[in-house]
Amino acid sequence: MTDAIPTTYRGIRYRSRLEARWAAFFRFLQMYAVYEPIDLDGWIPDFSVGGALVEVKPCLTEDDFVEHELRYADYAPGRDIILVGVSPVVLGGEKFGRLRPKSNGKRWRYASLRYCPEFKCRRWGFTPYPVSRCDLGHTVLRACAPDLEASWARACTETQWRKQR
Ligand SMILES: [Zn+2]
Repeated sequence: MTDAIPTTYRGIRYRSRLEARWAAFFRFLQMYAVYEPIDLDGWIPDFSVGGALVEVKPCLTEDDFVEHELRYADYAPGRDIILVGVSPVVLGGEKFGRLRPKSNGKRWRYASLRYCPEFKCRRWGFTPYPVSRCDLGHTVLRACAPDLEASWARACTETQWRKQR
């Protein structure tokens, strides 16, 4: 694997272009991601998004995800951990990434992105696939692959490598 290319996006310098892409993607969905929010013992999560810790890895296959799941299994008990790969659709369809729910510290599941349209919520969040309710019990809409792809395409364009002037 080649070295990551540090990429600046909206004033923050990310360690890799993949991280910058995810930052742009979360921004388009108004998910308010904080970059490298906390230093844990042995792990600095890439983002926190709505209380979940998000780790970005260049995962292309299910096997890649499983390899990283083992590594992060024991970190941050009591927090949702989301592992994402090279795009929000790399696992196919609505499968956004892998999620280790805070309530069940060892068992990783597929994650999907959902939107709660209720007035109190009106926001995006992660949900273990195929749970279909938000934390307040409202029925939620799941992001479909074409929507995820469209937002990702926009994120890629905004963070495209440009020669430094
Ligand atoms: Zn809700």
